[in-house]
Amino acid sequence: MAGMMVFCTRSLLSRRSSSPALRHPFVSLLSRQISSEADSIVDRLKSSGLLRTQGLIGGTWTDAYDGKTLKVQNPATGDVIANVPCMGGRETIDAIGSASETFSSWSKLTAAERSKYLRKWYDLLIVHKEELGQLITLEQGKPLKEAIGEVSYGASFIEFFAEEAKRVYGDIIPATLPDRRLFVLKQPVGVVGVITPWNFPLAMITRKVGPALASGCTVVVKPSELTPLTCLAATELALQAGIPKGAINVVMGNAPEIGDALLESKQVRKITFTGSTATGKKLMAGAAGTVKRVSLELGGNAPCIIFDDADIDVAIKGAMAAKFRNSGQTCVCANRILVQEGIYEKFATAFSKAVQSMQVGNGFHEGVVQGPLINEAAVHKVEAFLEDAVSKGAKILVGGKRHSLGMTFYEPTVVTDVKNEMLISRDEVFAPVAPLLRFKTEEEAIHIANDTDAGLAAYIFTSSMQRSWRVSEALEYGLVGINEGIISTEVAPFGGVKQSGLGREGSKYGIDEYLEMKYICLGNLSN
Ligand code: NAP
Repeated sequence: MAGMMVFCTRSLLSRRSSSPALRHPFVSLLSRQISSEADSIVDRLKSSGLLRTQGLIGGTWTDAYDGKTLKVQNPATGDVIANVPCMGGRETIDAIGSASETFSSWSKLTAAERSKYLRKWYDLLIVHKEELGQLITLEQGKPLKEAIGEVSYGASFIEFFAEEAKRVYGDIIPATLPDRRLFVLKQPVGVVGVITPWNFPLAMITRKVGPALASGCTVVVKPSELTPLTCLAATELALQAGIPKGAINVVMGNAPEIGDALLESKQVRKITFTGSTATGKKLMAGAAGTVKRVSLELGGNAPCIIFDDADIDVAIKGAMAAKFRNSGQTCVCANRILVQEGIYEKFATAFSKAVQSMQVGNGFHEGVVQGPLINEAAVHKVEAFLEDAVSKGAKILVGGKRHSLGMTFYEPTVVTDVKNEMLISRDEVFAPVAPLLRFKTEEEAIHIANDTDAGLAAYIFTSSMQRSWRVSEALEYGLVGINEGIISTEVAPFGGVKQSGLGREGSKYGIDEYLEMKYICLGNLSN
């Protein structure tokens, strides 16, 4: 840790809430108790060697060159968990140099050798599932059970691509002339810049680093400044697994500076990004300068369509899962719940009852299923969206305000009479707020669902097989869940259409994002 303790100008204070003024007296007491629990978790993580607080360049744990640091805070309490380096362009250039040097040896290993390293990394991630889960809850806020679930999900990409590494096949193409043979080789793209968001501090990284390393690429990872600790712990485990120094480098801090260094470097051949559509567009434009490949997993605006013929219990369970995972802070969260008029009232009543039963609180506490929002800005966004909706005629059935726990806790909310033109239907709310829209016909539902620039996930609930196919095919989305609210898995392709992104992650298709095709023509064979 840098001795100087100079904080980065891009302070977290603007991105995190730590205002004690927001706390109720009882909450302060509770909060102190929670803080001491969190302290003992931090101590345990320190002694296990998993609380890493430096970046990694060429296998060496490194401070920011100018000694600046960033605070990593617990969104449930506002407490500072750790200080990490606030790095910028210079550290990124060195990290790229290290990734580039290691690329020549890593890419030459056999697929089976790379596979063994990845498999070992997977095993270590699973062995340390609990500690990694605790770290996710500490820095991101999601309930511990959900956080441990993210570790299993995140690790599954390392396991899957350890296996997939051995299945990168080329092709032999029937020749057009008798004395020629035509081949296609698949080769790693090169050094990859990996930029990830805060909402899945582990899984968004493994979904990219797994296939990158499997294919022979090396990486420079930039986790979100809000949640770097899980990434650093996972990287420590990668080193313990024997993955060579320089294959994975981690920098964090000044995002635009790090981003520019990655974009401007000719050594970086690809940028893979998960985050907001606005940042994705900037990166895509920036990648043009060196004609880099880009993969983008951007924002969504998922419709969840519930038809009159749906099994209502299945629909409620599915909509709850699709809406409230990670307190509504996922790109595939149901952002608009479209309910057909015949069951609208019945659904709204039963759904509201389920929503009211959810326990909100610190993710370390038994029974809690909804944690805090990531920061004050997230709460302000919900407030603005709800104000707009109510001013245009929407009604709040449940919740609709900050939770009495203070901080950035928000009450799980159900809003009815929502219209397509309200802000809440136009953009991701990224919070535990479920807007219910009413529709009459299948055509109208499809029209509303597709009336957005986003196209990531969509959900439909119906008991008609014909309708399942018809609507799935008509939806302009990369993923469709039929009678299911949670559909992500390492074995299926994940990605969006329209402004939700480019490329796919996971599955047999995911590794292609990190491979170049090379055509080889062997001629004059008859001489
Ligand atoms: P964000 O603000 O775009 O940040 C994402 C990452 O980009 C962070 O690491 C951030 O760094 C970095 N970043 C910001 N500006 C940058 C720049 N100029 N150059 C380089 N890097 C830059 O998004 P977020 O708020 O963290 O994440 C939420 C969004 O992610 C939502 O829209 C959600 O839908 C989307 N998301 C999509 C998927 C998907 O698979 N499609 C999955 C999860 C989330 P700092 O945090 O350090 O500033």
